[in-house]
Amino acid sequence: MRMNIVAGNWKMNTTVSEGVKLVSEIVEKSKDLSNVKLIVAPPFTHILSVGEKIKGSEIGLSSQNCADEAQGAYTGEVSAKMLADAGVEYAIIGHSERREYYKESSEVLLKKIKLALANGISPIFCIGENLDEREKNRHFEVVKKQIEEVIFNVDENDFEKIIIAYEPVWAIGTGKTATSEQAQEIHAYIRNVLLEKFGKKAENTSILYGGSCKPSNAKEIFSQSDVDGGLIGGASLNADDFIAIAKSF
Ligand code: PEP
Repeated sequence: MRMNIVAGNWKMNTTVSEGVKLVSEIVEKSKDLSNVKLIVAPPFTHILSVGEKIKGSEIGLSSQNCADEAQGAYTGEVSAKMLADAGVEYAIIGHSERREYYKESSEVLLKKIKLALANGISPIFCIGENLDEREKNRHFEVVKKQIEEVIFNVDENDFEKIIIAYEPVWAIGTGKTATSEQAQEIHAYIRNVLLEKFGKKAENTSILYGGSCKPSNAKEIFSQSDVDGGLIGGASLNADDFIAIAKSF
């Protein structure tokens, strides 16, 4: 069974106390939600305190990244093992901000995904084209390459633990959203790419949409058959908006 998921990527926002307040509100307001899995991805410094607040709830805990090495002299990095030990169950890997600002290549992303999986963490693997690629009608080949270079190199037995987030770069934080037709078209394409490699297992892969998703457009986007939820940036910093998006299923 494919899971409906709404995941909040807090990015580099909130202090620890603000994050704890935010997640407490999310816990409180999500009590009657049943057909959707909520995930929160706070900054590293908030993982333990936020994890404490969601104990006993169905909300999942995600990091926004993990190191591409297992351990050792990598100043400033946080390993998948450390994250798992701190209670992290999911890790956002390959967000376009990491690809663009920190030059993370497919090679690096594959290492991160393998380390996450080896430590029992489900990767939320982000893919998506930029505006130039969309305008040149290259979006299909771009996402296919992003999947082939990383996900096709993951052990078949681990494939079911992977969540895909399709996030057109031109829609992230811009207020521009893909139309529901654009989202369905490319989500169906992504699923087909996965089906060809992994067979029927890909029917169960959750493929999330991300890019200026908000309460006013979530229902329309989530109504598409191959859209299984959303990765939410800006709107996940407001508990009411985040919950309203989750209630759009
Ligand atoms: C994101 O960064 O994953 C994202 C979707 O951001 P926003 O919702 O703010 O566009």
